[in-house]
Amino acid sequence: MKIDFDTDAGLKKIYGTYTGQLNQWVEGGEPPKLAMQEIRCAMEQQREHWKRSGLQVHQKIKGIKGASRELPGVSYQDRMFVNHIVGSEKMITTTIRDSGGEIYRWTGEAGLVLVIQELKKNTQPPQDMALSCPHCGAPATLAQLENGCPFCDTHFVMEELYPKVTNQFTTREHSQDVKQDLWRLLLFLAVMIGLAFTVMPEEFRSRGLPEEYSRVMGVPAGLIAGLILWGVCKALGIFKMAEDLRGGGKLIRSLQFRHQIKKLDPEFSTEYFRDRAMNLFRMMAYSEDPGVYTACECRRPDSWENVLDASLYNFGVDKYRINGNECSVSITLYLDALIYKQGKVKYKGKKVRMTLRKIITEPTNLGFSVKAVSCPSCAGSFDAEKVKCCPYCGKEYDLVQHDWVVTEIR
Ligand SMILES: [Zn+2]
Ligand SMILES: [Zn+2]
Repeated sequence: MKIDFDTDAGLKKIYGTYTGQLNQWVEGGEPPKLAMQEIRCAMEQQREHWKRSGLQVHQKIKGIKGASRELPGVSYQDRMFVNHIVGSEKMITTTIRDSGGEIYRWTGEAGLVLVIQELKKNTQPPQDMALSCPHCGAPATLAQLENGCPFCDTHFVMEELYPKVTNQFTTREHSQDVKQDLWRLLLFLAVMIGLAFTVMPEEFRSRGLPEEYSRVMGVPAGLIAGLILWGVCKALGIFKMAEDLRGGGKLIRSLQFRHQIKKLDPEFSTEYFRDRAMNLFRMMAYSEDPGVYTACECRRPDSWENVLDASLYNFGVDKYRINGNECSVSITLYLDALIYKQGKVKYKGKKVRMTLRKIITEPTNLGFSVKAVSCPSCAGSFDAEKVKCCPYCGKEYDLVQHDWVVTEIR
């Protein structure tokens, strides 16, 4: 459903508050209070990751004066929640310094897009629903938080627990990558020179001219043709169009996957799946050792680039296998990422392939968070991100029966 973000005062207020919290975080403050616990943790890990890389990252998000810069918004809902994807154009400045001084600076307009999750009107979530305390992050239940968090004793009313931001994206135009342009030009020239040598003798022969001409004329003709073709492609924005289509080819497979998995899990949502995949990616990319997390059943490849920041552009399903109630799916995440390599930072598109696994025994637990789960044996709530067994009754908590885990990443 399309929504008019421009005129929705409630959503605009949440968006504005979150943007402010985001600015404070980058300047050393705590991660945005409005973000769900997984995102907050990922942000803390990201900051640690920058420190380990010996970098200082600063980012300033400012509004743009003048005309309204809201992007068209969209909402989707399930049994319990309404989720809004809303965003607007912002002026963003990112600077990165290492011990020797500034190594990266970018200022420009970029879209800051949030996924805001609200409770549906007249929906009362179950009292025993597991939730993280927005104040101290401790796992608790809805009833406990309303009666005072068992760890920090803060009392909450429903309006303080929702809405929550469940994902964020920044989209910016790829800066004119001069090197990439040059490579394309060289490729065009090479192909055209090759073509000139194969096509021109034929042409000369048909006109009764000696074939030797092509040996002399092939290179300049190829150079000129290549240059013209490259110029035309650039002027028509064809390179950019190819960029915009990233991941579009996987749409059919993605729809098939959704159709098949819905038979097992009627509450399956592509959007939750996307947010989960992105959270798992952040965990793999930013944590010092992803192996400590229960959701990571694989190692981060040694050859992995140092990702300082990444935003999801698109994702698609490559293949999937559903065997009884066990589901394994390989996806490609198309990211726009800040990559740190040999003392330099670059902004570029990055493809990440990951395989996720889940055993579907019951429909998706709406509002599920690995940071606050409810033990199926004793109903105690705990953080299942690093512990495999319930701290209250000792029973093993098998995360793969409740959420997606990563089995491969490349
Ligand atoms: Zn608390
Ligand atoms: Zn238990």
